[in-house]
Amino acid sequence: MKVLYKSLAIFGLAALVLAPEAKAAEPLEGKTIYIDAGHGGSDSGAVGNGLFEKNINLAVSNDVMDKLKNEGATAVASRTDDTFLSLEERVAKASMNGSDLFVSIHANSGVSAASGTETYFNSDYEAENSERLAADIQNELVPALDTADRGVKEAEFYVITYSQMPSVLAELGFITNSSDAEKLNSGQYQEKAADAIVGGIETYYAK
Ligand SMILES: [Zn+2]
Repeated sequence: MKVLYKSLAIFGLAALVLAPEAKAAEPLEGKTIYIDAGHGGSDSGAVGNGLFEKNINLAVSNDVMDKLKNEGATAVASRTDDTFLSLEERVAKASMNGSDLFVSIHANSGVSAASGTETYFNSDYEAENSERLAADIQNELVPALDTADRGVKEAEFYVITYSQMPSVLAELGFITNSSDAEKLNSGQYQEKAADAIVGGIETYYAK
C-alpha cells in the first residue's frame, strides 16, 4: 500500500509538472492564418484627421503577424510594406498559401459623428465559420479598443466574398471620427487591436 501511495504521489506530481507545459503548447500550431492589410501604395484607403487608412491597417497587420508567429501559427501577409495589391491578388495569395483563415484589416470612414468597430463576414463560402470568427474577433476588439459596438454584419466585400476559407473583414474604427482616429494612430491601441484579433482567432479554434 505504502508503495502504491508513493507511486500515486509521484504520478500526481508528474501530472502537475507536465500539465502547465501541455497547456503552454502553441495554441495556433499547424494553422496558416492569412492577414490582409487593406489598401496600400497608390490606394490610401480612407483619409481623415491627417491619417491614411493604409498605414494604420499595415501597422496593426504587422503586429498581428508577430503575435500569430509567437502562438505557433504560420502567418502569411498580403503585404508587409506600403505596396499596392489588387483585391484578386489578395484572394489568390491566401488560397495559394493554403490559408485556414482570412482576416482583412481596415478602418472605416463616414460623417465625423460616426464611430465604432464592426466586423463583416460573407455567406458565399464557409458561412457559419465566417460568422463565428467575425463574432469572436468583434467580441475581443470592442473592449480592447473601448469603441462603440456596431456589431457583426454581412457584406459583399470582394476579399471575403471570394475567399473560400472562413474569412472576415474588421473595421477597427472610424478614421473620420476624432476619438476613434486618435486610437487608430496610437501604437498602444494598435497593439491592443492586434492582441484582440489574435485572441479572437484563438477563441475560434478553442471551440
Ligand atoms: Zn478599407
